[in-house]
Amino acid sequence: MTFRKSSEILREFVEDHQHLFDKTHEKAIYFVGLICCLCAHISYFIIFYMLHIKEMMYFNIGSIAFYILTLILNTIIKNEKSILVYLADLEIIAHAFMATKLLGWQPDFGMFLLLIIPATFLTQGKRFYIPFIVTFLSMGLYLYLKITITDETVLKYNVDDTGIIRALHLTNVVICGFVLLFSSTNFMLQREYMEFKLVDQRETFKRLASIDPLTQLYNRRAMNENIRTIRRESKTPSTSYVIGIGDIDNFKRINDTYGHDIGDKVLVYVANLFISLIPEEGYAARWGGEEFLFVIPDARIKDGVDFTEKIHKSLRAHVFEIEDCEFGVTMTFGVNTGIPTDKIDSVITKADKRLYKGKNNGKNHTEFTD
Ligand code: GH3
Ligand code: MG
Ligand code: MG
Repeated sequence: MTFRKSSEILREFVEDHQHLFDKTHEKAIYFVGLICCLCAHISYFIIFYMLHIKEMMYFNIGSIAFYILTLILNTIIKNEKSILVYLADLEIIAHAFMATKLLGWQPDFGMFLLLIIPATFLTQGKRFYIPFIVTFLSMGLYLYLKITITDETVLKYNVDDTGIIRALHLTNVVICGFVLLFSSTNFMLQREYMEFKLVDQRETFKRLASIDPLTQLYNRRAMNENIRTIRRESKTPSTSYVIGIGDIDNFKRINDTYGHDIGDKVLVYVANLFISLIPEEGYAARWGGEEFLFVIPDARIKDGVDFTEKIHKSLRAHVFEIEDCEFGVTMTFGVNTGIPTDKIDSVITKADKRLYKGKNNGKNHTEFTD
């Protein structure tokens, strides 16, 4: 497989997952979270209105205004949207604190003060210290309430109706569950996205280190590694592989006649022939200036020669048209086989000698004997 084929498969894989947390989806996820908070506070407003708890009614009007503002900011702020979540955390803490102070522990607004701790750590903001500040604040207030509000404390609003208390409690449980579900899902998606980004980056670095930038074929270093892999993964100790070296004939003349840029185009054209014709399990590399090396695992000399014949045939059929000039390009190949116990260098050297022989024997063909 050529490097281009394998990296294309990986790139497709990364692109398939790109949607997980790109900017548009980030905006949509924050939108859903904030709109749910807004709806929760509208519900709280209605409940507190029905219970005639003035302070919480006013508080919730403020909360509703706050979430409308954050929804607007969500469309304006491009980076560091996590700041909106941290502001929402503070709002949740303040709401839970005030409701517990006025109504006591029974409806369990206090659970928000504990739940906000994992939720804030699941928010992937850039400032690592913010979750710690939120934790200390929330824990501090929770402890303060635990100490100051006991069963004996006289509350400002004593809701006697156990039905209402239960309904309020259940509402809080559902909303708490949602907050945790939302922050965990958000965290999971972000983590997935980061993982795919890392795979993508790793692939880019690998690509930069392993391929020839002009032809997109493997470079010499990567090809040596490929040959070692073929030897290592050989089915049996006597399973042969084929190595061939091809060199463009009279390439210097092409450069001298048409210029270096045209020479480069010829190199890219030849490289593309290798990419399209090499068997699926084979590898092709740019071995030097206008020299190419290919290797096919689990193959005999005939397989190598057949491959070079396909290259010869394609090249002979192609006419390069540069401005008013037309010219053809030919190549000479030297092909050899090796088995896993053979030294790689000596297998390549022998192929190289055959190439040399081919150059001396009139070029434009493949040599596979000594
Ligand atoms: P032969 O048939 O014996 O192989 O002759 P040749 O002219 O192909 O061989 P020679 O070794 O004399 O010339 C190779 C030329 O390839 C010389 C060099 O300038 C050119 N070359 C090497 N790398 C590149 C490149 O990246 N781009 C271009 N355009 N030319 C290159
Ligand atoms: Mg040459
Ligand atoms: Mg050469």
